[in-house]
Amino acid sequence: MKRAERRRQAREDLRAVARGLDPEAGDGRLVIALMRVLHDLVEESQDSRSIAPLMGFFQNNMRTAIRVAPRHSLACSSGCAHCCHAWVSARAPEVLFVKRSLPAREREAALTAVEAAYAVTGMLDPDVRAGMGTPCPLLVENRCRAYEARPAVCRTAVSEDAELCAKAFAPGASDIGIPAPTFYLTLRRGYSLALAGALKRAGFPAYSYEHNGALRAVLGRTDAEAAWLAGEDVFAGVQPEPRGDPFELPRNRLLYEAAWAA
Ligand code: SF4
Ligand code: SF4
Repeated sequence: MKRAERRRQAREDLRAVARGLDPEAGDGRLVIALMRVLHDLVEESQDSRSIAPLMGFFQNNMRTAIRVAPRHSLACSSGCAHCCHAWVSARAPEVLFVKRSLPAREREAALTAVEAAYAVTGMLDPDVRAGMGTPCPLLVENRCRAYEARPAVCRTAVSEDAELCAKAFAPGASDIGIPAPTFYLTLRRGYSLALAGALKRAGFPAYSYEHNGALRAVLGRTDAEAAWLAGEDVFAGVQPEPRGDPFELPRNRLLYEAAWAA
């Protein structure tokens, strides 16, 4: 594709995703547009050695999509944090953005909490973690230390029944379904795929990491963000999300190929 066409496509992509992804659109075109927008922002982040251009846009865009979403009757409220006692996975820039969001004076306490949590959760599989009810180390008095920068999986964790959440995330709980509008699940999948595709296109892993291990890898390093953007694998040895690269699934691979087809 010629440079002028690419610029025109970039402008159209930005216009298309101005109100965030719309799960009800259902045809993948917005996900493809967002994937390309995010890829340009990965490059901008690499040039500026700062994760802010990519993750600032990503988080704001998801906020917009949720703000303009149809009304759902959700039980979620401030201080309700049963869902913060579960396996969390996040992609590399999300983890780096969480770290960036923590005030410097809080980082040591956060690292201590992360080390303590990791001593319990280590490399355990999500199946084993389910039912342990281990709190996220970023949870302080039922509030997230990194609320404004929390990963997509947390931002889209909603429920229509807080009592069921309390049962589902309690220690020893068996498999209890959480009633949640499919809107949020589809939204999560769309943002997850768009970010994964942007990262893959730029040569980074498309998969997510287990959050405690990933935080542990970056919280103690002052240069983690610049090092990752420069290509160092600062997450080496961190447990990847078991589902791995989402583009191993044919339907996701088709979306990825369509994004860069021209
Ligand atoms: S998902 Fe469940 S536990 Fe989490 S905030 Fe909503 S109601 Fe509370
Ligand atoms: S990162 Fe924040 S929102 Fe996500 S599980 Fe941890 S405390 Fe909860």
